[in-house]
Amino acid sequence: MSEQNNLLRSLPKIDVVLDKLEKSLYERLPLTIIKSAIRDTIAIFRQGILAGVISELPGSPDEWDSIFVKAIEKKNSPNLRRVLNGTGVVIHTNLGRSLLGQNSIDALQTAGAHYTNLEFDITTGKRGSRYSLVEEIICDLTGAEAAIVVNNNAAAVLLALNTLSFQRETIVSRGQLVEIGGSFRIPDVMERSGATMIEVGATNRTHLFDYEKVIEETTALLLKVHTSNFRVIGFTSEVSAAELVTLGKKHNVPVMEDLGSGSLIDLSSWGLPKEPTVQEIVKAGVDVVTFSGDKLLGGPQAGIIVGTKDIIARIKSNPMNRALRIDKFTLASLETVLREYYDTKQALKSVPTLYMLTCEPESIKKKGQRIIRRLGGATKLKNHIQLQPTVSRVGGGAMPEHGLDSWALALQPGDIGASGLERWFRSLSVPLILRIEDDKMIVDLRTILEEDIPLLLGILKSYLQKGQSH
Ligand SMILES: *Cc1c(COP(=O)(O)O)cnc(C)c1O
Repeated sequence: MSEQNNLLRSLPKIDVVLDKLEKSLYERLPLTIIKSAIRDTIAIFRQGILAGVISELPGSPDEWDSIFVKAIEKKNSPNLRRVLNGTGVVIHTNLGRSLLGQNSIDALQTAGAHYTNLEFDITTGKRGSRYSLVEEIICDLTGAEAAIVVNNNAAAVLLALNTLSFQRETIVSRGQLVEIGGSFRIPDVMERSGATMIEVGATNRTHLFDYEKVIEETTALLLKVHTSNFRVIGFTSEVSAAELVTLGKKHNVPVMEDLGSGSLIDLSSWGLPKEPTVQEIVKAGVDVVTFSGDKLLGGPQAGIIVGTKDIIARIKSNPMNRALRIDKFTLASLETVLREYYDTKQALKSVPTLYMLTCEPESIKKKGQRIIRRLGGATKLKNHIQLQPTVSRVGGGAMPEHGLDSWALALQPGDIGASGLERWFRSLSVPLILRIEDDKMIVDLRTILEEDIPLLLGILKSYLQKGQSH
């Protein structure tokens, strides 16, 4: 106990620290940042002492100084930072999902630096609607009558359910009560939307008659949910959108589908699994379809709702819509991404998510060979870096069981071990995020873009030097 008190008493006093710090720091950084970083650092030590995990303090004033300066610099640097994605997961939710192409970046720049016609109709000089900036394009691309965009797909589902099924019943298959990452669960969202959930069928099999049996006066909606990040395999059965539409028409109940990823291109022509496109679902007669802006579409975070004129009009006038609306940056970048889709070939090149998903393994291998050459060649590197086949993932809960053939740099961890080296890659000014497989570090080159290569080369050179030093 007294040992603890001694330690607590020897913690530096904030005023003393402030006096001693390099004067140039005060010229460079706001005093608020300096003070708060010092206070936080001392507090961390105090907590450590009280918890009994710190039994010894830095010995010299110089050691303390360097601890404080590090904390101050860290507090002064941006929290949101660029990283290199070496995981091979293209739509990596934790790393920001889809990247935007140059046209979208330019549009963001314009929207941020200048006044825009966000809600101003330039032709009439009257107030306009922000949704009109993208609605026509979305309708062109999907074949829908009307559209609206909200903050994300979770918001889209919530808003659609609240509009169509508030205090009324929505019928959904037990096999589709999914949880998407980030605690989005269909039953919970449904409850919050005010809809009453009527579950039908079994986990693995649901039939059309299951829905029909429970349809009543009070039924507001038939809901179908894309099971995105999991698959039921074996003895299974699901009712198709078209069948649900026929049933809905018969009983005059609208049908909604939460498509999740929602692709506008049938990627099966590029070797990916066949997923229903938004156009196909609209064509099947589904009344309202929701999907994400930043999954397979490759745009900014957004939730797109397409459907019949009547339903979209009701959604637009729901007061909740105002709380879920998208901002000008989302609109700016979403419009540019959507425009790329007018020309599929163009979209596959200029929408980074599509480009990475459809990239040929052969061209990824060539990228790897170029990197190896730039680092001195395969023979010289063979004990440290090797080019080897690997398997990338789509990510974002899309096509969970499908692997994409790819190529990776496999790095030998050397003495510090795989997890030590992984930590080192994360500590760099631009962290390299990678996978550990069979005790090797795997940098999947599918998610390393051409413009990332100089940076990656720099990182690999320091890794090689590190390897030589022990
Ligand atoms: C991803 C997903 C959502 C949530 O979409 P966000 O854009 O992440 O909010 C909802 N439903 C399904 C089926 C999904 O796959």
